Amino acid sequence: MMPTTFYLDANATTPPLPEAVAQMVAAMQQYWANPSSPHDAGQRSKQVLMSARADVARFLGCKPAEVVFTSGATEATHLALRGALRMGARRRLLISVAEHASARKLAQTLHDQALADVSWLGIRADGSLNTDTLNDLLDEHVAVVSVMAANNETGVLMPVDALAQQVHAVGALLHVDATQWVGKLPFDFSRCGADLVSLSAHKFGGPKGVGALLVRQGLSLPALFDGSQERGRRGGTENLPGIVGMAAAARAHERSPQAWQLQTQYITTLRDALEAGLCARLPGVVVFGQSQPRLPNTSYLRIGLWHAEVVLQRLAQLGVMAASGSACASTGQAPSAVLTAMGVPKEQALCAVRLSLLPDATQAQIDQLLEQFPPMLEPAPSIPTGVFA
Ligand code: PMP
Repeated sequence: MMPTTFYLDANATTPPLPEAVAQMVAAMQQYWANPSSPHDAGQRSKQVLMSARADVARFLGCKPAEVVFTSGATEATHLALRGALRMGARRRLLISVAEHASARKLAQTLHDQALADVSWLGIRADGSLNTDTLNDLLDEHVAVVSVMAANNETGVLMPVDALAQQVHAVGALLHVDATQWVGKLPFDFSRCGADLVSLSAHKFGGPKGVGALLVRQGLSLPALFDGSQERGRRGGTENLPGIVGMAAAARAHERSPQAWQLQTQYITTLRDALEAGLCARLPGVVVFGQSQPRLPNTSYLRIGLWHAEVVLQRLAQLGVMAASGSACASTGQAPSAVLTAMGVPKEQALCAVRLSLLPDATQAQIDQLLEQFPPMLEPAPSIPTGVFA
């Protein structure tokens, strides 16, 4: 048995960093006054808010005024897409089928309520974005194109920079969901080509319930919640403790390009060792999206036709915590929408397990898992297990 737990579900959420927790507690005790209040206590809270905004902006390569604090990426994406569709007469939304449910379901709702004319961009069998139809779909009626920077399940990176030029050529906006990218790879809003970027603090060591939409300077995006906060772009008293926690996590992730490279190499090496070790020890391991550039920490795979529930339960016996895919969709028996879009048959998609490493994972943990886990799946089932039995 593994002596301690091994958390392999970093793409669902990360533990809050100790400094984020400490500073949130301090903010709740010392800066509880409303940052909009004119008195001294309020003005002290306002200073803390300004300094947190500056830290978050520096980490993300944007101007402080381009940061709109929200309750997370879900709200940020709603603000971005609903806002973009209300900015002018354009009514078309182009969105990838591989988006997180928060964006995909929103697009469906916008379509159902006749608030947008939605076209879907497919993905290929290797998990990459299929841009073949993009030229035909892009015209002067498109208000906004929405793609993710990195897929939350496969980890496959999407060609955001290349898209930006095409999208801007027809005068449309580009929204990027960078929720899984930020904290795992260096991010620079000033150079990424997107007009609107969603992110959530809890994916990089910050607290849950806080995130941001980055809004390119000069864009006047209508609010979802009216009010004077966030320059009128997001009303509601600011979640100052959450924002302070997010800023602490942002500061903890600020690194030189060399340090980013080392961090990326470290975690890629561990992930690759995990995949190679499983492939060597178990028959029929298939890694989804493996041929594509991926997030360094993410592995989405199936082990023959072992059902994900069985695999996860055996991993749990070893203290290993993983997931069958997006945490937001991991209840129920529906196969992953991402794998389905990649053309993976349902009986294989239901076997998919996502292993996503935290930055502090170690080789010793990987070695232990590779030693103890494969024997738990022997002998390989000659007939499919789980729901197929
Ligand atoms: N986008 C992506 C790619 C995600 O992985 C998530 C969280 N799983 C979200 C958006 C939504 O983030 P939140 O639940 O913090 O709003």
